[in-house]
Amino acid sequence: MSHHDERTFVMAKPDAVQRGLIGEIIQRLEERGLKLVGAKFMQIDEELAHEHYGEHEGKPFFEGLVEFITSGPVMAMVWEGADATRQVRQMMGETDPADAQPGTIRGDLGLDLGHNVIHGSDHEDEGANEREIDLFFDDEELVDYERADAVWVYEDE
Ligand code: UDP
Repeated sequence: MSHHDERTFVMAKPDAVQRGLIGEIIQRLEERGLKLVGAKFMQIDEELAHEHYGEHEGKPFFEGLVEFITSGPVMAMVWEGADATRQVRQMMGETDPADAQPGTIRGDLGLDLGHNVIHGSDHEDEGANEREIDLFFDDEELVDYERADAVWVYEDE
């Protein structure tokens, strides 16, 4: 694996889907040079929601979070690139869109903590990427290919 191959799990949340922001989110990640290697338009059920957000179980916002994330379809994705997890988190901005910098996805597209448009794996949580990718995707659903512009995105490609 080259250092360009880091994979991270990203999801356009139900508010993003309802507001027609799937394309905007994909466009930002795509234009950055990150490579889409998996995508699934789906509705999250109660069980998957509990697994995905298990670390928040018992917190005051947990029930509302589960209700929200299961309330409509989401676009689950896997993106690949150099330092992908941390770079996507930077592009997402702060968890609360009210604190997120303009220029970030949440800072440009959201106003409310409970409806914050996008999920991306936590880069400070060592196993989060792999765990979340495994939870949403089978291995054969992830596609191995080269982007034609990789030699222009990376100096050493
Ligand atoms: N959340 C919420 N209320 C809170 C804290 C978090 O509704 O007080 C939701 C919010 O949608 C957030 C998700 O729970 O994206 C997961 O929280 P986390 O702290 O992991 O933030 P993230 O990693 O999504 O930035």
